[in-house]
Amino acid sequence: MRIAVYPGSFDPVTFGHLDIIERASKIFDRIIVSVFVHSTKKNMFTVEERVAMLKTALKGKKKVTVECFEGLLVDYVKKKKTTVVIRGLRAISDLEYEFQIAAVNRTLYPAIETVFFMPRQRYTYLSSSVVRDIAHFRGDVSKLVPPHVVKAIAARRGK
Ligand code: ADP
Repeated sequence: MRIAVYPGSFDPVTFGHLDIIERASKIFDRIIVSVFVHSTKKNMFTVEERVAMLKTALKGKKKVTVECFEGLLVDYVKKKKTTVVIRGLRAISDLEYEFQIAAVNRTLYPAIETVFFMPRQRYTYLSSSVVRDIAHFRGDVSKLVPPHVVKAIAARRGK
């Protein structure tokens, strides 16, 4: 059973994240999508809301479960009895940051393997922060996030 953890903020989940999960599903038997609880970061949605939006987006995907986690990723990965972490690479600009995290995680837990997936071309510019910025100015995010997330953003913005 090949289990992989896909950690992130997912604030909110975008079509880019879903693209990565879709690709990873072809390779792994089980994917645990895990919302990182990070209290110092300024978030648009609470962890519970982010988990709920991910669950709705991934409904019916038998290989995928959604959770949240606190603390060090390596400890969480060990607890899940796996060694595989999934991350997405949009562009070379992601590489430096991802390279650093992967290297630090490997120092803390030598057995860990970070596996990178590239999204389809049209999502290479897409991030949750782009979505939050557009949402801030009440722009149209319907091409970037699933319909239930569009609704949640509109409700948050008081539309
Ligand atoms: P962000 O706020 O940048 O979307 P997250 O912490 O939610 O970041 O992202 C979790 C992981 O998903 C990271 O490895 C990130 O690079 C990746 N990711 C996010 N958006 C995309 C995308 N559009 N295409 C590919 N990977 C992505």
